[in-house]
Amino acid sequence: MVINMGSSATEDQIQHVIDRVKECGFQPHVTRGSERTIIAAVGSGGSRAALEALKAAPGVEDVVPIAHPFKLVSRQTRRERTRVQVGEVCIGGDEVVVIAGPCSVESREQLFSTARAIKAAGATMLRGGAYKPRTSPYDFQGLGTEALHLLREVRLATGLPVVTEVMSTDDIEVISAHADMLQVGARNMQNFSLLRQLAKVEKPILLKRGPSASVKEWLLAAEYLLAGGNQNVVLCERGIRTFETEMRNTLDLAAVALARELSHLPVIVDPSHGTGRRDLIGPASRAALAIGADGLIIEVHPCPERALSDGAQSLNLEEFATMIRGLSAPLRPLATANAVGA
Ligand code: PEP
Ligand code: MN
Repeated sequence: MVINMGSSATEDQIQHVIDRVKECGFQPHVTRGSERTIIAAVGSGGSRAALEALKAAPGVEDVVPIAHPFKLVSRQTRRERTRVQVGEVCIGGDEVVVIAGPCSVESREQLFSTARAIKAAGATMLRGGAYKPRTSPYDFQGLGTEALHLLREVRLATGLPVVTEVMSTDDIEVISAHADMLQVGARNMQNFSLLRQLAKVEKPILLKRGPSASVKEWLLAAEYLLAGGNQNVVLCERGIRTFETEMRNTLDLAAVALARELSHLPVIVDPSHGTGRRDLIGPASRAALAIGADGLIIEVHPCPERALSDGAQSLNLEEFATMIRGLSAPLRPLATANAVGA
């Protein structure tokens, strides 16, 4: 339930409602906007009927049942869009953010050359996997702590904040000490013990959508983070599994618009995993921005044919720069009745 206080509600009236919410068995989450205060009653153990009765309390304008099971990520709880600060970079603000880098950190040379090139091309954050979730146990699993040291070194040299994936609760501490943002990969979106631990870290979280997760399940995964105390969450659409076989996944762009409609959290798009095809990164990125994405995360490698993971979907340094330039090219003109002489 969300309790909307009237614009002239007094501090005493607001406090009374907060106290009543607690007495009814819920936790109050208070959002003070410039005009009015909203109190979200979170939890499942309390009495909903008692909350509904708060419509009669002084200063209360309305008590609205939340249709969606996610509460803190909902726009009903917070109308203003959340901006997530990662070092100097703001995700969810006026400017589109481009994060780029290799699927896996492979060597100092590979990471440095990629970081310098993506920065020159206009990217403002670096990605790079240290711990890789691979379908086969025989594939390259990542360089682990060696990669974390390289990421920190490159961050210091270039100023680019870095994001890297955390797969296990055991690695949270060491990754938090080296990276600016922690990625929850698609395969771990519903790893609830990982989410509960990440809710307690100071670092922002990039939460990828699971390959077969509904938008509701994705937002509920984000709810774990917010409910546990971490408000700095960015959602990432990275394609879902469908019957399509020509592409690695099906990039669900409508879900980006929907997630932005249902939630105040920023949403970015990963066209690399979303399509699995380097030839589609440009068009899919342009479409993502057109539908309202707050940013992009793209795999880039100095020599994709030699990449230890995801080479087929990685752009080389030059291709990435060309693709970035193409992002701001205008869309095709709309045919109008006048144009055909009607
Ligand atoms: C990645 O970013 O390299 C990755 C493994 O992504 P996802 O979890 O979306 O598959
Ligand atoms: Mn990858």
